[in-house]
Amino acid sequence: MIKRKDKRKIEGNTNYFFEFIRIKDHFFKNMNSWLKKVADHRHQSYKKYEPEVILLLMILKNVFSLKSMRSMTDELNQDLVIDNLGKVLDIDLEELPHYDTINNFLKKLSPEELGKIRTYMIKELLKKRSLEHYRINGKYWGIIFDGTGLFTFDEKHCEHCLRRKYTNNETGETKIIYMHHVLEAKLVVGDMVLSIGTEFIENESEDVEKQDCELKAFYRLAERIKKDYPRLPICILGDSIYAAEPVFQICDNYKWKYLFRFKEGRIKSIAGEFSKIKTLEGKCEEEITWVNEISYNNREVNVLEGVVENKKGEKITYLFITNIRVTKRNAMILLTIGRSRWKIENEGFNNQKNIRYYIEHVNSHNYNAMKNHYLLTQIADILVQLFENGLSIFRLVKKTAKEISSKLLEAIRTRMITDEDILQLAKPIQVRFA
Ligand SMILES: [Zn+2]
Repeated sequence: MIKRKDKRKIEGNTNYFFEFIRIKDHFFKNMNSWLKKVADHRHQSYKKYEPEVILLLMILKNVFSLKSMRSMTDELNQDLVIDNLGKVLDIDLEELPHYDTINNFLKKLSPEELGKIRTYMIKELLKKRSLEHYRINGKYWGIIFDGTGLFTFDEKHCEHCLRRKYTNNETGETKIIYMHHVLEAKLVVGDMVLSIGTEFIENESEDVEKQDCELKAFYRLAERIKKDYPRLPICILGDSIYAAEPVFQICDNYKWKYLFRFKEGRIKSIAGEFSKIKTLEGKCEEEITWVNEISYNNREVNVLEGVVENKKGEKITYLFITNIRVTKRNAMILLTIGRSRWKIENEGFNNQKNIRYYIEHVNSHNYNAMKNHYLLTQIADILVQLFENGLSIFRLVKKTAKEISSKLLEAIRTRMITDEDILQLAKPIQVRFA
């Protein structure tokens, strides 16, 4: 056991911002050059700041949990921060870009450029042996698909807005609200859920007959993930809306495994077969029952039911449908993984909305810039999760998300990155995950 006094000493000696950069460079040694080489469509005379300055600054806005562009300027516009940023980017930096300059850059930047940076990051991570043991059945990488709302407006915001009629229950008045939603694909590695793909749920134009929706966005996102990771063994996880024929077909074509929440009403024939067979010959292990090879259309599906006690002591029944064969050995694992989908909702999106990144805060009204702000949050979140889960000091001293962001902000504002530190960055380190 380490004494409290010693813990304080270790904490006091730790330059959190430097450690953050060290972990960033450890996993992504070419990250700065990726930030530098994004296709830049600004007019030559407006290029006072290089792309990597703007992009790293915006990533740090998220890392430091600064809500608005103005608060970022208030907190970061000081000499030591500017020196430290220049040091880690290896450039001469005299001032920070104004937030209008940043937004003008993000208005013109193609979101695909940020997507490419994220793909580079995920591919680097997938090469690491330290993450290998998180594969499902020793083979498949779990990827959760889930959608959420980002912005709601009372008036039309742009031609891509989703529209919903809303009736006030008391007055009976109806009005139309305008929204932007997003579908995320997140890679599950232990306690970390890392963004691997983003699809904005948006109408192509104002006069589309049928609006865009989560499933349609899924078809586009699945195609992109297959293109970016053609040979990656994947098991996709999702709620019961995904338990549908077109999704099964995509998984067959792409040779993907799936594990979805299943509701009895969703596909009645499968639900009926399951309840009939499970009482006769279903395999049962404690509170888990499963039936393999239930015929559905031209394929066979497997159904798994688990009863889990929640924190209040209530028993909750979970039903899953999968194309992974359920066995005595993997039944419990599949149940746990299936339930981990709640992470993205309860921890993932809640954390991104309310605790650390404020993804519902409008940093720019320009739709393209909004997308880029969102993607920069996802990139920052990958770095933050690697930092939180990989830095050994956080195993000694537990810190909340807010406290970690404050420590990082305090460090960049009060501790100088020295030439000696920069030399240290080139040396290999070991990062272990719990
Ligand atoms: Zn809009």
